[in-house]
Amino acid sequence: MDFNLTPHHLELQNRIRDFCDQKLAPKAKERDQKEEFSWEAVPLLKEMGLFGIPFAKKYGGLGEDELGLCVILEELGRVDASIALTIESHNGLCSSQIYLHGSEEQRLRYIPRLASGQDLGAWALTEPGAGSDAASIQTRAEFDGTQWILNGSKTFTTQGSVAGIYVIFAKTSAEFTENGREGLTAFVVEKGTPGLNIGKIEKKMGLRSSDTAQLHLHNLKLSKDAVIGKAGRAFRDAMVVLDGGRVAISAISVGIARAALEEGIRWVKERETEYGISPENPGLTYAQRVLAQIASEVDAARLLTYRAAFLMDQKRPYSQEASMAKLISGDLAVRATSEILDLIGPEASSLECPVQRFFRDSKLYQIGEGSSQIQQLVISRHLLKNFQSPSPVKA
Ligand SMILES: Cc1cc2nc3c(=O)[nH]c(=O)nc-3n(C[C@H](O)[C@H](O)[C@H](O)COP(=O)(O)OP(=O)(O)OC[C@H]3O[C@@H](n4cnc5c(N)ncnc54)[C@H](O)[C@@H]3O)c2cc1C
Repeated sequence: MDFNLTPHHLELQNRIRDFCDQKLAPKAKERDQKEEFSWEAVPLLKEMGLFGIPFAKKYGGLGEDELGLCVILEELGRVDASIALTIESHNGLCSSQIYLHGSEEQRLRYIPRLASGQDLGAWALTEPGAGSDAASIQTRAEFDGTQWILNGSKTFTTQGSVAGIYVIFAKTSAEFTENGREGLTAFVVEKGTPGLNIGKIEKKMGLRSSDTAQLHLHNLKLSKDAVIGKAGRAFRDAMVVLDGGRVAISAISVGIARAALEEGIRWVKERETEYGISPENPGLTYAQRVLAQIASEVDAARLLTYRAAFLMDQKRPYSQEASMAKLISGDLAVRATSEILDLIGPEASSLECPVQRFFRDSKLYQIGEGSSQIQQLVISRHLLKNFQSPSPVKA
């Protein structure tokens, strides 16, 4: 077992950290306060190849493994969690659905456009009445013998109003499944296709420079070629994509918690006597306890994230580990940002204090791509299914 990053991952981490500090950090506050999608950051992200992180070079990607993706996302999450969400959902949801489950023709057609950042990607599963329970979506796709016709609405679609390429899920009738139940089908849809209408753009408490919109599908007509994978079989495909997404989201949450920790250390270091930290006081102070606890938990959350990424890279099962990483990192980011706000005190309520932004952003990561309760559900199902005990421990 080796706890060190490889020289390649270390170089990548340093390069992205410098990029984030120099190019993204200076305007992160401004982007949050403007509450608009940050188009001005797109050319910077393109230049770094960040729209095609895990895709093979043949399709215009960087060819990074999952660990590399996590290393990048932690750094982005540390300075600007909105941009991190743009990069994560573009790479990990929309592009991955096409890359992992699409035909070679679809990969060749769409991945180079997505990987170069020419088109942004959106992935639309959630609906006003169906989030955690994806199988209950109401959007329908009917096949009329020559084409598919989609009707329904999507909500909370990241890049919903700014994407060029959409992956949209709809329910298809029983004839398109093997087991006789109505299945989900994933479709790839280009911006501007008649019937694909952009609805309300959400004003959010956090992640405010990430675009989130509703989509309305009204007789959206698509050819057979638009189906990703097999008609009626996209539920499993979507769950595979979401498992990977959870590892990526976990890395971003680690980045947010680390950002709060760094602000906390900076704040306390400049005021050690105020916080009772002095050579004359050998006891553990409140500030020291908070910093030590969060630092330890950031390391623990990162290790869980790296373990899930490592399993993905090894092509081994990782669903339970992905949920564990997301549960721990997501909850930690909310708690760490909250505790550092407490530590700083009233000045933390100022919009000048970056920790309030981290706090608002962290909460949305705890919800998106499966809330903490859903991660607990997934983990507990694995535990109960796989538990094998030769003999109970005697009392
Ligand atoms: C910033 C942001 C970006 C997003 N981007 C996208 C995107 O790009 N594409 C997309 O498709 N979706 C996206 N989502 C939607 C997101 O995936 C859903 O919000 C999430 O899955 C939860 O679904 P819901 O909001 O419908 O909540 P619900 O499913 O209605 O859940 C409400 C509450 O009930 C709990 N709950 C639900 N079911 C259970 C259960 N069985 N047991 C115990 N508790 C339960 C949940 O944990 C939650 O606390 C985004 C969300 C956010 C906040």
